[in-house]
Amino acid sequence: MCNGQADGTAEARPSRRAVIGSAAVAGVAALGAVGMPGRALAAPAPDRGRPGSARTRLVLLGTAGGPVPIAERFGISSAVVVGDRTYLFDAGRGSASQYVRAGLPLKSLRAVFVTHLHADHTADLFNYLMLAQASPDGDALVAPVQVLGPGPAGGMGPPFAGPRPVPNVNPDNPTPGLKDLINGSLDANAYTFNIYGREGATPIHPESILNLTEIDVSRTGADPIKNRAPRIRPFTVFEDDRIRVQATLGAHGLVFPAFGFRVETPDGVIAFSGDTAYHENIIELAHRSDVLVHEAVSVDYYKDKNQNEAFIEHLKEAHTDVTQVGDVARRASARRLVLSHLGPAKPSMVPDRTWYQGARQSFDGPVVVGNDLMTVPLRGKKG
Ligand SMILES: [Zn+2]
Ligand SMILES: [Zn+2]
Repeated sequence: MCNGQADGTAEARPSRRAVIGSAAVAGVAALGAVGMPGRALAAPAPDRGRPGSARTRLVLLGTAGGPVPIAERFGISSAVVVGDRTYLFDAGRGSASQYVRAGLPLKSLRAVFVTHLHADHTADLFNYLMLAQASPDGDALVAPVQVLGPGPAGGMGPPFAGPRPVPNVNPDNPTPGLKDLINGSLDANAYTFNIYGREGATPIHPESILNLTEIDVSRTGADPIKNRAPRIRPFTVFEDDRIRVQATLGAHGLVFPAFGFRVETPDGVIAFSGDTAYHENIIELAHRSDVLVHEAVSVDYYKDKNQNEAFIEHLKEAHTDVTQVGDVARRASARRLVLSHLGPAKPSMVPDRTWYQGARQSFDGPVVVGNDLMTVPLRGKKG
């Protein structure tokens, strides 16, 4: 069943809003199996598995790193589909549309895991709540949808790019976490929800759909300024009768916390690096995973473009160069490596072949350069 909170080093904190932040401890298990495969809308035919089966697959909804909209890739977002249930990992730009294009029913969505609060990972998060409530064919979110992610950072380190001060937005609360992000968005969009309600278009009140959990890292020894990614063991943050999810801390420059997630399914293990520099925590997280989904940047590309030294240093502190990614997979003994969250994201800047060759430098196993709506099936224990 769903525990709605982390164990070991992590526990759920009480919600500012009791309705959103509580009361769904047994919800996922109680809902049971629902849902039929949705209809794909003019999209590449995905491998949908069988309704009600335990067949598991990874669907790359968006594979771009960074927030800037581009035509070739949507923002970072991945779905793990286990039979008739869907678990979402990050919700970058266009995630909700890509989710539907992949043929995934909204009613199958059970949980959303947010690695960190950079906008390229959260741009579409609230859209699932705001837009996905009442489609003409009756498909809609089914309450409760668990949403797990960072709490308030609690502090910010100095800017990396020089002494020029940058004024804080919302100085009274400059480091809001997941709950403030969602609840603030809900408040700001009150009018549309209230009008929807009067128009009879909202079957479920929005506050009853989501169940928010801010993953507590207070017992990891981490610090938002001095030690954002101490060496820790993965810890469980979610469990139901299909999957178990563990988290760890990655090293993502100034960002805190930046989670990686390990998803244990009936058919194998999928690990997500999140945004991170090369880090031992991620290698442990991905130990003997069947699929490691790892971010990658091309430092060479930015050097060739004469980016300033501060930016290059930022890249190295916050991301993993493509020539290092294979080493992560090799040391983790991962069976397959999938590159996603590519920076730069435009194929005209760094083609798939370059990504592939970079990752293969130190990893002999299969390497997949992720593209939007790509499906990676898990082969099961004998595969
Ligand atoms: Zn990112
Ligand atoms: Zn990031």
